[in-house]
Amino acid sequence: MKKYLPVLIIFAVFETIAITLWLTMDNLFYLFNFSYIGICIAVGLALYIAGWKHARRFVQFAVGSYMLVYLGLICNENMQIEGFWYYLFTGVFEAATIHYAVAKIFGPLIFGRGWCGYACWTAMILDLLPYKTPQAPRKKLGFIRYITFALSLILVAALFLTHVGNLERIMFWLFLGGNILYYAVGVILAFAFKDNRAFCKYICPITVFLKPMSYFSLIRVKCDESKCVHCGKCKKVCPMDVEVDNNSRKRKNATECILCYECTKVCPKKALK
Ligand code: SF4
Ligand code: SF4
Ligand code: SF4
Repeated sequence: MKKYLPVLIIFAVFETIAITLWLTMDNLFYLFNFSYIGICIAVGLALYIAGWKHARRFVQFAVGSYMLVYLGLICNENMQIEGFWYYLFTGVFEAATIHYAVAKIFGPLIFGRGWCGYACWTAMILDLLPYKTPQAPRKKLGFIRYITFALSLILVAALFLTHVGNLERIMFWLFLGGNILYYAVGVILAFAFKDNRAFCKYICPITVFLKPMSYFSLIRVKCDESKCVHCGKCKKVCPMDVEVDNNSRKRKNATECILCYECTKVCPKKALK
């Protein structure tokens, strides 16, 4: 039973966040929201420990579709980056800003890019495409993420400065349009570069937050270099091109790891933990 201890820890962490936000913000939504996410992750982790190979995909769909359909489409909460700027400018520290703080800004100090492996509704669809393992070398196009990041900020700033009316509604349509655009670009790039995660590597503006914070991540795949025979199998299956057989935090593409654990499954020497 000891091997299931991380399940309890994860659940306890999310319940602590849920109860703290519920009581401090006096809003029952936070209890429901973070409890639901905590339960999905804890169940997924238990299934993973039990050896079910689709455990990560289960969590990805349970959390990603909840956020996209329930929070985004039904509750009209813009959880895209424009929504983050919008709520930041209005000074509202609520769902979208809390979501960014927990999942994308401070959370990565603990669980790195776990968001990208287990919750993102864009990757939830992109991961269904045929190129789970990149079929071509990585391109030097990562600079595009800074352009999309700046554009999102400029767009929302312009909406505020021009005092357009009914901003709430505009944010909803931006959420809808932004997601359609992300999916379209993501699918085209996946086929063009033969790489399901091409959108994540080159375009996604959220990585501007995720990458620097996940450099310090507490949870990371570690390599016991005394066991490693440098067969290269781990790097071959890695969807994010991480130089995982090097234990340094400065390893190539170190801040790209989405904690999918595909590398640990193929290591013949059990050198990855
Ligand atoms: S990089 Fe962006 S699109 Fe890709 S999984 Fe992370 S948040 Fe989602
Ligand atoms: S699969 Fe294992 S042994 Fe092979 S390079 Fe990776 S860590 Fe080393
Ligand atoms: S295969 Fe390993 S190194 Fe690559 S993203 Fe998944 S967990 Fe990280």
